[in-house]
Amino acid sequence: MSLLFPALAHDPDRPALRFGDRSLTYGELASAAGALAARLDGASRAAVWATPTLETAVGVVAALLAGVPAVPLNPKSGSGELAHIVADSAPDIVLAAPGTELPDVLGGLTFVGTDIDTAAASGPAREWPEPDASAPAFVVYTSGTTGPPKGAVLPRRAVTSTLDALQDAWEWTGDDVLVHGLPLFHVHGLILGILGPLRRGGSVRHLGRFSTEGVARELGSGATMLFGVPTMYHRIAEALPAEPELVKALSGARLLVSGSAALPVHDHERIAAATGRRVIERYGMTETLMNTSVRADGEARAGTVGVPLPGVSVRLVEEDGVTEIPAGDPEAVGEIQVRGPNLFTEYLNRPDATAGAFAEGGWFRTGDMAVRDPDGYVRIVGRKATDLIKSGGYKIGAGEIENALLEHPGVSEAAVTGEPDDDLGERIVGWIVPADAEHPPAADELASHVADRLAPHKRPRVVRYLEALPRNDMGKIMKRALPRG
Ligand code: ATP
Ligand code: MG
Repeated sequence: MSLLFPALAHDPDRPALRFGDRSLTYGELASAAGALAARLDGASRAAVWATPTLETAVGVVAALLAGVPAVPLNPKSGSGELAHIVADSAPDIVLAAPGTELPDVLGGLTFVGTDIDTAAASGPAREWPEPDASAPAFVVYTSGTTGPPKGAVLPRRAVTSTLDALQDAWEWTGDDVLVHGLPLFHVHGLILGILGPLRRGGSVRHLGRFSTEGVARELGSGATMLFGVPTMYHRIAEALPAEPELVKALSGARLLVSGSAALPVHDHERIAAATGRRVIERYGMTETLMNTSVRADGEARAGTVGVPLPGVSVRLVEEDGVTEIPAGDPEAVGEIQVRGPNLFTEYLNRPDATAGAFAEGGWFRTGDMAVRDPDGYVRIVGRKATDLIKSGGYKIGAGEIENALLEHPGVSEAAVTGEPDDDLGERIVGWIVPADAEHPPAADELASHVADRLAPHKRPRVVRYLEALPRNDMGKIMKRALPRG
């Protein structure tokens, strides 16, 4: 039925998707998505109101079958952001569960209700020809961590190549059952978390809303993998001492994967100590899908995102953006550039941004800075724009200072930035959410804690205390939203 998801045609009785108490087999999914796809024929682009529901998953599979590029919308976006995305991506229809009250900014689109129950009963669907690999499958908007979201046009090839590279790296099979607690409007939750299992013929159990109890319940009853963002693993690390069921469930999991932002070393180590399992980190972006990962049979080294995935070329370059840094020097920081079938084709309506994003030879400039361990493992230092601090003649990555601060028992959350300083060029600022608001650790204590662990020039010169760090819907720290000092 579709080359993207062979199980739709071949394994009708296998479980495919479960959201709460509603589920679909591959046969039911084929019927539901097939009937919906027939209603999309001829559309130019389909917006998908991407709530964490069965409707979203079926809507996206339908759009893929019909060859209509899907534009996932974050239902929690403000009307300004939604208006921008709708004007930019110009969909003609919007897919949502029947009865959904959509905001006014979507009023101009034709509403197509994803009526799963009727459609699932409509019987075997027709054959859908597989569009060309270069045809656009999605327009996905970036997380907006560093600026307004940009629409990345993702060809079908990017989706299949990334999922097949992950199959290899993670030894991912149709027997895997994924526990999923992520939103469905970004590539992590949607492409990896829904389309990944469907491509393998495996199944997904979506928690609706992430909870450590849900993770314990599902991993404790047959699920094999967990995909999460670092804020979820932080909650898991915090909950482990009080939740023996969670310890047991994680100990028995086949694969625990983290991505979308750096997993703090402290959380990685706490989970490893309590469960005997090391979380695997992978590194990707909306524009590139997945670039590197620790492999299932590899060593999950805390603070690293592993090695390039099959088919993906990764290089580090100097500040000029073209001179390659040879492998082997674990101190040499460079920007990560990537090339491969996993890449997007363009930022929608942004020819200048697209042109600026590529170096000669088709290398995509990720804007992320990294070093490499002698054996090739990539360690992300941070983003070029916000995480590289030039202080006293040194280039210092925010990430390792954040990791050091998080090891202090009085620190619950930490972010590090640079701000202008007459003597140093930039001074290091530590933003701290104290573990106990009544007794925050003193600035000089945190400075010597960092100096002891790293080096004196890496200590924060200023410490500011917050009740919470500004984070987006993926739990990513929005450094541009930190109050100005
Ligand atoms: P915007 O591009 O709109 O500013 P964004 O970059 O956060 O937002 P995404 O495409 O969702 O949007 O995120 C990709 C970025 O997330 C990467 O460039 C990288 O900075 C970060 N990232 C993803 N995985 C990891 C990881 N395992 N470790 C560290 N950083 C990661
Ligand atoms: Mg980005």
